[in-house]
Amino acid sequence: MNNRIIKLDPLTANKIAAGEVVDRPASVVKELVENAIDAQATSIVVEIREGGKTFIRVTDNGSGIDETDIELAFERHATSKLRNIEDLNTILSLGFRGEALASISSVSQIELVTKTETSDSGIVLELHSGKIISRNRIGTTKGTTFVIKNLFYNTPARLKFMKSSSTEAAYINDVVSRLAMAHPNIAVRFINNESIIFSTSGSGNVIHNIASIYGKELAKNIYHFKKEHGEISLEAFVAKPSFHRGNRQLQSFFINGRYIKSLLLQNSVEEAYRTLLPINKYPICFLYLTMSPELIDVNIHPTKLEIKFSNDEILKPFITRCIKEALYRQNLIPEVSFET
Ligand code: ADP
Ligand code: MG
Repeated sequence: MNNRIIKLDPLTANKIAAGEVVDRPASVVKELVENAIDAQATSIVVEIREGGKTFIRVTDNGSGIDETDIELAFERHATSKLRNIEDLNTILSLGFRGEALASISSVSQIELVTKTETSDSGIVLELHSGKIISRNRIGTTKGTTFVIKNLFYNTPARLKFMKSSSTEAAYINDVVSRLAMAHPNIAVRFINNESIIFSTSGSGNVIHNIASIYGKELAKNIYHFKKEHGEISLEAFVAKPSFHRGNRQLQSFFINGRYIKSLLLQNSVEEAYRTLLPINKYPICFLYLTMSPELIDVNIHPTKLEIKFSNDEILKPFITRCIKEALYRQNLIPEVSFET
């Protein structure tokens, strides 16, 4: 046997690394929508077929990619969002690792159409397994469209692990919903097999977003309040205790516009509802926290879902106390009306 050491070629290395960033269609959608958000899009459309397994299209009206940078965007550790390690302390963009496009392109077939404000025409680029197949000029409007076809067609082991189309579609729905909730100023539309699942207005009104995504009944039963504590500011949308769920799907936490998972925040909220909910029921809440990026560390997980706070001991009691106060002051319920 030949056991000499070789250096893997970049395409093989990307395929292996892809496992960390993209494990299912929903993670592809997350990366593409986050890129659209980072590109300052005000409108994003996500379309999928067969749970995203054969077709994902994300269209945005953001900055577009400069035509001299297009090929570079698909290389590993190529990013426009970070210049040096110090930038990590203050970073506000959702991406910064420069890994997503390299990873996604290595395990799928991609068609990219993009145009910047200043260029006269757009570029359409086609890649198979990370290799450029064609590059042409095209007339188009400012922004970027990614079509991802046949995810994992060249990695049979991964292909096998995808679930049914409806299960994968549900994961995607969850991702797009949370991203839309995180960015009420962006109009987000989600289309599954040609039918519109939801469509937000981009007006910035969170209650309207809740109505568009999760339904008007829930939206009518939300308490909304804002509180500050030193450098932390909290805007909370919490459901009446009579509106609860058998799981934590409708608990969302956003820090500086980023959706995160946090046991600390989850515990803080559940503590506030502790005596108010039946057993095995979970509160519904959407919490928006703003704090100096220096108080959090977003770099502890490749998909950036988990973050670390440097002020745990202040944060937890603050959140619990605010929500408790709100729940016990029932008259805070705003009167909301919806145009249909
Ligand atoms: P990251 O987001 O970590 O920088 P990605 O691999 O996701 O890495 O993207 C690489 C680069 O491609 C980005 O830094 C950005 O410059 C560009 N890019 C990707 N998607 C878009 C988009 N929808 N609009 C504009 N630029 C984009
Ligand atoms: Mg990215």
